[in-house]
Amino acid sequence: MRHTAHAALACILISAPALAQSSTGGTLAPPRSPRNANYTITARLDPATRTITGSEMIAWRNITQKPATTLQFHLYWNAWKNTRSTFMREQALGGFGGDVIRRADEWARMDVTTVTVGGADRSASRRFVTPDDDNANDETVMEVPLASPIGPGATATITVAWTAHVPRTFARTGAVGNFFFIAQWFPKLGVLQDEGWNCHQFHAGTEFFSDYGVYDVSLTAPAGWPVGATGVERERRDEGNQTVHRFYQEDVHDFAWTTSPDYIVHTARFEHPTLPPVEMRLLLQPEHGRQADRHFDATRTTLKYYGEWFGPYPYGHITIVDPAFQSGAGGMEYPTLFTAGTRWLAPPRVTTPEGVTVHEAGHQFWYGIVGNNEFEDAWMDEGVNTFSTARAIAQVYEPNFLALRYFGGFVPWVIRDIALSRESEGNRLTGYRHDARSDTPSTPSFRYFPSTGGSITYNKTALWLNTLERWRGWPTLQRIMATHFARWQFRHPKPDDFFRTASEVAGQDLTPFFDEVYRSSNVFDYGIAELKSVREGDLYHTTVVVRRYGEARWPDFIRVRIDFKDHQVAELQRWEDADRWKAYVYDGPAPAISAQVDPNRVLLLDTNYTNNSKTLAPKGGAAATKWASQWVVWLQDCLLSWAALA
Ligand SMILES: [Zn+2]
Repeated sequence: MRHTAHAALACILISAPALAQSSTGGTLAPPRSPRNANYTITARLDPATRTITGSEMIAWRNITQKPATTLQFHLYWNAWKNTRSTFMREQALGGFGGDVIRRADEWARMDVTTVTVGGADRSASRRFVTPDDDNANDETVMEVPLASPIGPGATATITVAWTAHVPRTFARTGAVGNFFFIAQWFPKLGVLQDEGWNCHQFHAGTEFFSDYGVYDVSLTAPAGWPVGATGVERERRDEGNQTVHRFYQEDVHDFAWTTSPDYIVHTARFEHPTLPPVEMRLLLQPEHGRQADRHFDATRTTLKYYGEWFGPYPYGHITIVDPAFQSGAGGMEYPTLFTAGTRWLAPPRVTTPEGVTVHEAGHQFWYGIVGNNEFEDAWMDEGVNTFSTARAIAQVYEPNFLALRYFGGFVPWVIRDIALSRESEGNRLTGYRHDARSDTPSTPSFRYFPSTGGSITYNKTALWLNTLERWRGWPTLQRIMATHFARWQFRHPKPDDFFRTASEVAGQDLTPFFDEVYRSSNVFDYGIAELKSVREGDLYHTTVVVRRYGEARWPDFIRVRIDFKDHQVAELQRWEDADRWKAYVYDGPAPAISAQVDPNRVLLLDTNYTNNSKTLAPKGGAAATKWASQWVVWLQDCLLSWAALA
């Protein structure tokens, strides 16, 4: 179905101070998650000084088998305190991240003033720890030793008071002019596991991890400034020239918010025959007034296809934020809220902004509902979501005809996204083929090389998932993903959980495949090394040599096809996958025209398509590469150059 950019106006401009509507009101019954980390937060934003003053009460339950003797908190904003943090050092190592020449008040900080546990003041015992490296200057993890352990199943009431300085935007968080996007902004507990706290420092290349709970957050902002946040606004009251907005949401693992006097609020509704309705709220920049329907339509695409394929979106409401121009806040996901792309000046046929919106909305499923550890296993949300985005986009938007013709319809939109990835803050053009050996996917994601990790996390994962689809079929892959979603929603899956489900649902041990694509940095590269057809009497003697140039071994039959001048076609026998080459010989009435390995393009991870086939020229029999046209190589470089997104 062709996407229409300016369909009938479905949005309503809210001029009265109406509260956001939702069929769930922020509640989910029965509880979907363990709800072991529940935050009641009060915070006040002073836009003039760019200061947030906050206090929080955390009702925390130890759901592990071991007593907790300490607490560990993320203080993410301290990553942007100066250039000595691990985050900033990694950005410098990767050669991205933009300018570090900033005025003093354009940096961030998060200063904890008091911590109490069970009513006892533990402020004096707090200290910074660095579980991931030896950087004594990193202040993104705070540890608080406990006076007495919190046993398995026991609950603690923790209070933290803090002040924070809002930076000029770093990593999609901060302020530009009077646009505020406030994320990773409160002291947040790590995840206690039986092995201890999983509370990584803030890294340049990876994101976040936290437990599910209930968020009840009261935000004070200037009167008249629309506020968007995780959850549903349940109360609003004026206090002089300020307004207090109370947002509430159950069964989420994070909370982000935004405010600006410039936002124009639109609303629309997602409806579907079998999926629950979703109220959509859009905070739009005034200059993008005509783009509301594109945001809503792209969000509907995600809610529909992800809902049908994986499982329903349960929250009943979603907030879409159109960030201010050059705010650097575009393309990021938070529970029930995400930021769309900023490049809406593109003409309607160019699907890039829709791609960003579908992708970020898609994180509600892969990240929000299925809550993997983004520090360690970033592919489980980013890679899975990149694949899902591509598939959803291909259902709705006009496919790029070149991509469709040669790759069977996959990733049509990414070609256009090269521009996006070049222009986005801190990102250079990357791609799987370029970075294929840069890291082994099973390495914890935060240890990937900062500037090439995105190719592994996003691109390689999406390519092996698409390879799996082409190999085992979409019905099987869809059942794998839906089963994984059902088993791990509102929980924290690990990679082996996905792999086990995949083999179980496929009815086949897929371990050899995952060994190659996940547990190694080997690359696939099959090719036709030689093609000859020589006349011998009445017959033509045809020789084909197929080679495995890469270290990776495809765990199944690699197809090889030979086309003859008399329109006969030969398919070669089983490839012995331990071998580096195999020669095939045919004697027949006609000469060969061409030979191709993997003619149906099942193995999308093949890092070099130019050697996949050879064609015999009409005269002389000299072999030429059929797929060597420049644009194919270019297109492959573009495939899933998606690392600009979060
Ligand atoms: Zn993403």
